[in-house]
Amino acid sequence: MKWQYAGRSDVGKVRQGNEDALFADEARGVFIVADGMGGHVAGEVASQIVTEMVGPGVSRAVEEGFSGEELEQEALKLIEDANRAIMERADNEPEKRGMGTTVTLLALIPGRRYLCQQVGDSRGYLLRDGALTQITRDHTVVQQQVDRGALSPEQARDHPLSHILTRALGTEFNVETDSYTDDVKAGDIFLLCSDGLSGMLPDEEIMRILSSASDDLQEVADSLIDAANEAGGLDNVTALVVKVLP
Ligand code: CA
Repeated sequence: MKWQYAGRSDVGKVRQGNEDALFADEARGVFIVADGMGGHVAGEVASQIVTEMVGPGVSRAVEEGFSGEELEQEALKLIEDANRAIMERADNEPEKRGMGTTVTLLALIPGRRYLCQQVGDSRGYLLRDGALTQITRDHTVVQQQVDRGALSPEQARDHPLSHILTRALGTEFNVETDSYTDDVKAGDIFLLCSDGLSGMLPDEEIMRILSSASDDLQEVADSLIDAANEAGGLDNVTALVVKVLP
């Protein structure tokens, strides 16, 4: 199984700093988007801790041949370690109290499978056979309302409370991740993104840009970020695109 990757993180049009972080080990097929929160550069620190601890750890596990349940458990353990590290850092540095981060991990594994693990509202999408599917489900108050039928997904996008998370790293000692695993097909295009992208663009627009995928994946990632900025760029924007080759 071969694939291509491109990604970029952008501060957006309004924010002063960029609290998003991304990790990509293209050779081993391990990718992460993390969206940090907390004032005084604490958000940057939290998202960096998770990419720096979980990314290389999962890469190592993939290299050592972990797959299936074993890889899932290893990734969970690394995410738990990162959670603890964020909490300890916040304990030691009072100005970083309350910092936290999302994490969305994608690993492409032998046997043409993928593993996606997620906490928070950074999303994983899959474009397959011309249809866009959201792999992950946001851990937000607004998503709970959508699940209950009280809000439509479109109302959720512009909802003033859309950024309130029900789960994040750095906030509680117990971490609960959602895991998604499925087959990978040639031509699949995965997108990991922060809510600065998915909150600014409707899924149809994301799909339109991803479908235009030329051989230049970087152009696709850049177009996604440009579109989010043109729509207002109210938050940091991160887009990470992985295309599975024939
Ligand atoms: Ca964000």
